[in-house]
Amino acid sequence: MKNKFILDNSKYIESCNCEDRPNNTVVDSIIIHCISLPENEYDNDNVINLFTNTLDINLHNSFKELKNIRVSSHLFIRRHGDLIQFVPLDKKAWHAGKSKYMNRENFNDFSIGIEMEGSVNDCYTDKQYFTLKNTIDAIKKLFPSIQDSNILGHSDIAPGRKMDPGKYFLWEKIK
Ligand SMILES: [Zn+2]
Repeated sequence: MKNKFILDNSKYIESCNCEDRPNNTVVDSIIIHCISLPENEYDNDNVINLFTNTLDINLHNSFKELKNIRVSSHLFIRRHGDLIQFVPLDKKAWHAGKSKYMNRENFNDFSIGIEMEGSVNDCYTDKQYFTLKNTIDAIKKLFPSIQDSNILGHSDIAPGRKMDPGKYFLWEKIK
């Protein structure tokens, strides 16, 4: 049977970096991130490999710190707007890390993580914003508790530790 928590317009690449959410969790937040490996280089599949534990850490010096790291996001939006999904939306992906905002902690438990292919030093593409807006609309249909005020940046929930999606991310494009 079709899994409604895997979005229709995504390419699904299963990641085992996920787990069940705590019992009775209401998913009410979306966290926006950015990632590129190496930073600012987009023409490769290193992020996909990172999220599926197949990244060759010898490819670049900056990958050394990623050794044995187990992370994932539900969704990844590439520069041309392609949507890749790694974790069904009802499961918990490992994108937020230690997190706190408005007296709530452990955002992985009740949020959906979306990675924009990019970096905090770079603008995002119109195609990415188009896919992101459509994706958020589809997610809201599945999880009606998600309000615009609960669509946050990683930098909002991990200030001082994380800067993504960065100052070039245009929030008005998605609200
Ligand atoms: Zn992030």
